[in-house]
Amino acid sequence: MLDADFFRRWMTVTAAAVDREAERLTELDSPIGDADHGSNMQRGFTAVVAALEKEAPDTPGGVLTLAGRQLISTVGGASGPLYGTLLRRTGKTLGDAAEVTEEQFTDALRTGVDAVMALGGAAPGDKTMIDALVPAVDALADSFAAAQAAAEEGAVATTPLQARKGRASYLGERSIGHQDPGATSSSLLIGALVEASGE
Ligand code: ADP
Ligand code: MG
Ligand code: MG
Repeated sequence: MLDADFFRRWMTVTAAAVDREAERLTELDSPIGDADHGSNMQRGFTAVVAALEKEAPDTPGGVLTLAGRQLISTVGGASGPLYGTLLRRTGKTLGDAAEVTEEQFTDALRTGVDAVMALGGAAPGDKTMIDALVPAVDALADSFAAAQAAAEEGAVATTPLQARKGRASYLGERSIGHQDPGATSSSLLIGALVEASGE
C-alpha cells in the first residue's frame, strides 16, 4: 500500500532530481525552446516541497492535488499547467483514501496523463512529455523500475521526432535531432518513484 508519506517522498525526490538536472533540462530547451525548462521545473518543485512541509496533507490525494496546484500557480511556462494537471487530476482520482494500492495509483496516473493530453492536445509521437508518460503508465503495472526504464526510453525516442506541439513545433523540421526537454523531466518524475519506494 502507498500512503501520504510515499507520495511526499515522491515529490521530494523529484525536486532533488530536478535540482540536479536543471542545467541539462535548460540545455535541452535551448535548441528547440526558450532555455527555461530547468528553471521552470526548479521553481515549481521547490514550491511543491515548501507547500507540502507547510500544509502536511495526510492522504495521497491531498499530497498530489496540493502539488499540482503549486505547479499551476508558480510555473509560467507550458510545463506548469501540464504537470500541474497531471498531479492534480491523479490526486483527485485517488480521493481521500488514507492509503492506495499500486494498481489504484496506476489507474489514477492514467487519468492524469489523459487529462494532460486533453489539455495540451498532444498525442504519442508529437515529441512532448506524453512520449515518456504514456509508456511509463503502461509499464507501471509491472514495477516502478519498469516504468522508469520505459520513461527514459520514451524520452530518448523523442530525438528523431518532429515536434507537433508546444514551442518546439514552431521550428518544424529543425526540431528533429534534439531530445525533448519535457519528456526528459517526465523521466525524472517517474524515476523518482523508484527511490521513493525503496524498490
Ligand atoms: P515553455 O515551452 O512554455 O517555455 P517549458 O520549457 O517549461 O515551457 O516546457 C516545455 C515542454 O513542455 C516541452 O519540452 C514539452 O515536453 C512540453 N509541452 C509543451 N507543449 C505541450 C503540449 N501541448 N502537450 C504536452 N506537452 C507539452
Ligand atoms: Mg521553455
Ligand atoms: Mg518559457
